Amino acid sequence: MKNTRNFCIIAHIDHGKSTLADRLLEFTGTLTDRQQQDQVLDDMDLERERGITIKSHAIQMAYDFNGELYKLNLIDTPGHVDFSYEVSRSIAACEGALLIVDATQGIQAQTISNLYLALEHDLEIIPIMNKMDMDNAMPEEVEEQIIDLIGCKPGDIIRASGKTGLGVDEILEAIIKRIPAPSGDPDAPLQALIFDSVFNSFRGIIAYFRIINGQIRKGDFVKFFATGKEYNADEIGVLKLVQQPREVLSAGDVGYIISGIKTSREVKVGDTITHVKRPCDKAIEGFTNVKPMVYAGIYPVDADDYEELRASMEKLQLNDASLVFEPESSAALGFGFRCGFLGLLHMEIIQERLDREFDMDVITTVPNVSYKAYTTKGEILDVHNPSGLPAPNYLDFIEEPYISAQIISKSEYIGAVMTLCIGKRGTLKNQIYLTSDRVELTMELPLGEIVFDFYDKLKSISKGYASFDYHISGYKAAKLVRLDILLNGEPVDALSTLIHQDNAYEFGRRMCAKLKELIPRQQFDIAIQAAIGAKIIARETVKAVRKDVTAKCYGGDITRKRKLLEKQKKGKKRMRQVGNVEVPQSAFLAVLKLD
Ligand code: GDP
Ligand code: MG
Repeated sequence: MKNTRNFCIIAHIDHGKSTLADRLLEFTGTLTDRQQQDQVLDDMDLERERGITIKSHAIQMAYDFNGELYKLNLIDTPGHVDFSYEVSRSIAACEGALLIVDATQGIQAQTISNLYLALEHDLEIIPIMNKMDMDNAMPEEVEEQIIDLIGCKPGDIIRASGKTGLGVDEILEAIIKRIPAPSGDPDAPLQALIFDSVFNSFRGIIAYFRIINGQIRKGDFVKFFATGKEYNADEIGVLKLVQQPREVLSAGDVGYIISGIKTSREVKVGDTITHVKRPCDKAIEGFTNVKPMVYAGIYPVDADDYEELRASMEKLQLNDASLVFEPESSAALGFGFRCGFLGLLHMEIIQERLDREFDMDVITTVPNVSYKAYTTKGEILDVHNPSGLPAPNYLDFIEEPYISAQIISKSEYIGAVMTLCIGKRGTLKNQIYLTSDRVELTMELPLGEIVFDFYDKLKSISKGYASFDYHISGYKAAKLVRLDILLNGEPVDALSTLIHQDNAYEFGRRMCAKLKELIPRQQFDIAIQAAIGAKIIARETVKAVRKDVTAKCYGGDITRKRKLLEKQKKGKKRMRQVGNVEVPQSAFLAVLKLD
């Protein structure tokens, strides 16, 4: 145990975490040439393409330092706010963290939010200034930012480059010298923390864990605390580039367990593994049942694909327990599913995987957050869809989720950032100058305002200089009303939104205007109306047109005519018939595109 080090790497996106991880694997000879491939830790295509690590993994390196052999366990953490609970569990499995800051960018929002998580768990922080090979590196300025942030000495900061390999041996030395060895008791009852799991089609769910106390042997009968389920440890082992089975693992070790588990639901990140005989008396602290915060409807474009869509989602769920879904039907869209996601990025990933891995053509409705509705009878209902809101006479009040957001920006954009946040019902909680021209704002905002176009707006008003990160801070009561959209007098359930009553009129007006742009002219007038209850608050009309695309073909050429008709048919694919009106997919997301 004294020669084991467990650590993670925390960084703002693109500051070079994956690249540096690869260099560590290379320097320790963990990769053979054949295995060498850029960014081995990001093994899903989608992750690699986007350069983000969606699921955390772990990998063990062996390193000979001054004639002694060390086991270094690198636990990878997901890089996005949607997965901050998983980040916190990975961090809880470590004694130390490499804090990477891009020397050309300086400290960003995610640097800070991840650092706070690491400090909460008393991790030893090794600050690293990365990308030192670049001409526009600003080592003095960034060094000062790091010193201000964590209060270290200038000599503690390692200057590195994932590209050239500069500083990598110094980093390895720091891991061994500065990060403490694990301190658990191998003779105590077993207590192992699950920090991740993956699905394997041959072996079922593989859970990754860190043993805090005790020992686990192959064949042991174990229990998972949160689910109460018991399993036989068919195989245990350590994670090199491939799984290497072991007979026994002990306090301080990081490993995997295979025990015939079929569904990802049974393996909860943050859960504790113990023995059925001689169990530990309490679970490792910090376990939470993560609940989806963002919901949207997903419908097949072609109603016949409903069963196929269900099968695809079930497969996705095997890999991703945080995806939840249940059947729902919409008068406008027919049969589909209400899906819950951890956040907007998670939603985008699922949509993209449905398209790429399953070739499913789907319509996604406007996302909304998870609300709590308090009824006059004293019940509390979780509302995942605006149309599921109780009737007004039965509804006492609504609560919506709030976030605490960290925004870092150049000081010249602070005014614009504040205006944006206040327009989104935000309040300023704190403001710190990191340097004379960089400011960190802590804002409290309703999550429901962020799911719309907040991030894009923030990027554009700050010319790309603002960074943003958040965590859920709790629920608060809000004066929300349901705004319905009617097409030729028919309410379109998939277009309903919950909106703060002060913003409802303006919002209804803009929705109608946007829908007018998005809904193509048809052979009759289309009335677009926004309503709160029975009251119409805005209206637009799409004027009738007689659209005959073949008229342009001057008769004659029949193949050309057929091609045009086919093209028109294809264009219709992502259209939905709502009453007598053809509505394109883009209209269902109109709210995301309001100017
Ligand atoms: P991550 O999002 O933190 O995992 O960042 P990546 O490791 O994916 O790196 C982001 C981008 O920066 C990639 O294009 C890398 O090739 C590049 N990069 C990473 N480290 C360095 C470095 O030390 N020097 C230079 N010049 N580029 C780097
Ligand atoms: Mg990465």
